[in-house]
Amino acid sequence: MRLLIEHATVWDGSGASPFPGQVLVEGERIVAVAPAAESLSAADGAERLDGRGKFLIPGLVEGHAHLSFVDTPRGTALGELPPEDHALLTMDAARKLLGAGFTSACSAAAAKIRLDVAVRDAIERGLCDGPRLLAASPELTVTGGLGDGRRLHLHQDSFGVAVDGPDEVRRMARLCLREGCDTIKLNISGDYGTESAPSEAAVMTDAEVVAGVEAAHTIGRRVAAHARASDAVKSALRNGVDIIYHCDYADEEALDMLEAAKDRIFTGPAIGIVLARLESLRGDNSWQGQGFLERLKPLYEATCRTHNEMRKRGIRIVVGGDYGFAANPQGTNARDLEHFVTHFGFTASEALQAATRTGGEIMRRGHELGQIKPGFLADLLLVDGDPLADVRVLQDKRRLAMIMKGGARYLPCEGTPHVRRLH
Ligand SMILES: [Zn+2]
Repeated sequence: MRLLIEHATVWDGSGASPFPGQVLVEGERIVAVAPAAESLSAADGAERLDGRGKFLIPGLVEGHAHLSFVDTPRGTALGELPPEDHALLTMDAARKLLGAGFTSACSAAAAKIRLDVAVRDAIERGLCDGPRLLAASPELTVTGGLGDGRRLHLHQDSFGVAVDGPDEVRRMARLCLREGCDTIKLNISGDYGTESAPSEAAVMTDAEVVAGVEAAHTIGRRVAAHARASDAVKSALRNGVDIIYHCDYADEEALDMLEAAKDRIFTGPAIGIVLARLESLRGDNSWQGQGFLERLKPLYEATCRTHNEMRKRGIRIVVGGDYGFAANPQGTNARDLEHFVTHFGFTASEALQAATRTGGEIMRRGHELGQIKPGFLADLLLVDGDPLADVRVLQDKRRLAMIMKGGARYLPCEGTPHVRRLH
């Protein structure tokens, strides 16, 4: 397959200004990128696609995916789903994400050990449409930590696996690695909805973090951390964690440590769920709603402060995160770009770079993914609108005139199956 996309405005993901251009795709890769005026002899005989009036940008990368979080109102509802049903719903979420223009996704945790792994492999084998996927383990959490849904009086699971002490962390991490997970997830801090493990506390010990990191790094795989507390961010950095999510309460020392490690690590705020929950609590005058709001508001203010500062310090921040809850459903992930602009002071170009070039890097494929360059994988979006003037155009699937992943063309559809492969 040789396809010349011509007469489009090309924004290549590097941060350079867009230009009227043409892009030649052969097989799964981009083979030439040229200004519109240049005559491209390599394109002789190629199929042509008219991109007039449209923007051609790299495919988006979701940097903190939970494809097996299937829009349930509670975490324990994920524990109730049998694995067979859960796998089918995870495949459905994969189609939704591709249909929303996300051609890659770095998972931040699966709700069961093999869900990401099975869906990643099904996508690679062509059994299911979906983004390129890096599979994560479930959230390894301490007793009482975020994702521990157990209760003394009944059997109840949630999305986490409770492990205490370095031996249990090591054993569970090794088991997840054996089952094919690319990334081990550790919940170092608590969260705003977990009373026995609040956002501001590092509830996992250094020894437990080290055990998980050693297990993954020994075979060249990575560790991602849920780290809202400043002490959790510092623990992640001290102990070699590769991807540090949230970082909301990072103090000056933690920010300095993040900056010192900025060529090694990735971060991602996952702001979407915080804003969606704040929105859903508007007008809720119940004492539970008010109590939730009291914990959420300072967290929102802290995360804005922190991520404005992280942006200024040049720390790599990825777009996306924690879509897959009732308030923040799968497929609405492109809202994150708007959040980066509105709340973190990014320009549209910077938000788009976070979603493309930095996204390619967190996928461990920065040399071939996330930019429009000769030799790179042909993961492209043809957008009817100017995302540099207004990033919100990417939220409207009707404006995605073409989604391309590895040279294969897709169109988003209304309703299931969310996306349709064309060639
Ligand atoms: Zn998450």
